[in-house]
Amino acid sequence: MPDIEALFAGVRVGERAAIGRAITLIESRNEAHQQQAQELLHKLLPFAGSAQRVGISGVPGVGKSTFIEALGTMLTGAGHKVAVLAVDPSSGRTGGSILGDKTRMEALSRDENAFIRPSPSSGVLGGVARATRETIVVMEAAGYDVVLVETVGTGQSETMVADMVDFFLVLMLPGAGDDLQGIKKGILELADMIAINKADAFPDKITDAMRHYKSALHILTDISPSWHPPVVACSGLKGDGLDDLWAQVEKHQRLMTENGERQARREKQRLAWLKAQIADRLLADFYHHEGVSAALKGVEAELKGGRTTVSASVRRLMAIYHKE
Ligand code: GDP
Repeated sequence: MPDIEALFAGVRVGERAAIGRAITLIESRNEAHQQQAQELLHKLLPFAGSAQRVGISGVPGVGKSTFIEALGTMLTGAGHKVAVLAVDPSSGRTGGSILGDKTRMEALSRDENAFIRPSPSSGVLGGVARATRETIVVMEAAGYDVVLVETVGTGQSETMVADMVDFFLVLMLPGAGDDLQGIKKGILELADMIAINKADAFPDKITDAMRHYKSALHILTDISPSWHPPVVACSGLKGDGLDDLWAQVEKHQRLMTENGERQARREKQRLAWLKAQIADRLLADFYHHEGVSAALKGVEAELKGGRTTVSASVRRLMAIYHKE
């Protein structure tokens, strides 16, 4: 069992080994570890909260790791300490990973002012996202002032990441399939900015792509009354456009800090996470309940055979759950 005091002290002075151990504790599903993790987080919380938290999303192949490597290196070069975390939606299902490849971001992983942590590799998506969210607290308390949270363009994980960051950046490709990508309205609704990546490879398609996304964003209601999501072009590979892109992130941060929206957004996120975690907990309790799990198979069989209704089945299981 790790010594929480020592871990706390190690995290506070930015010791990489201590940070790693703290995150492992947070990711553990062992109940005793979870209690320790919460004790540690409670101590770290007063020292957290000051980083710029940025979510970065896009379909596989859009160039996320290349982009994060370039952006992260630019930021550490400018004196920032950069944490890169990830929420991989495939981890819960298959144990495989879309994002977790260790060979990605080679330069950044050797950078002493950067800390890269792949997505927790097991558990349900909600649990993976919970761990990542709590890891942000560790990174901030350890002195990291920029936290990048990467995820893949698949509905639920994007919403979860958008719910833990101050700024949600969506990477898109110019050209082929733009219309299809554009139709994914859900993601546009979450975006604080759209960056058309790989501008170096498709110079003739950039103007069209930018126009396309600008008009797509135009029809949506802005998340914030004081921010209309800009559309920019960049190349993670060549580094083009990253200065301007980050200037927008900083402008957003300044604006939202001044007008109180950043604080309000974080408060709203905390409440959303409270509700989500209560729902997860109740669901887990329900299915672990002895009476419920004993009765479940029978109820399912009856339901499949058409001998009862879904509502009646729910009532029956809830009655069993509440009785004990
Ligand atoms: P991810 O799956 O979103 O993380 O994408 P990767 O960063 O692994 O990139 C996928 C492929 O696109 C790789 O072959 C990269 O070399 C290439 N790529 C990434 N960014 C750029 C870019 O800005 N321009 C060009 N031309 N290629 C890029």
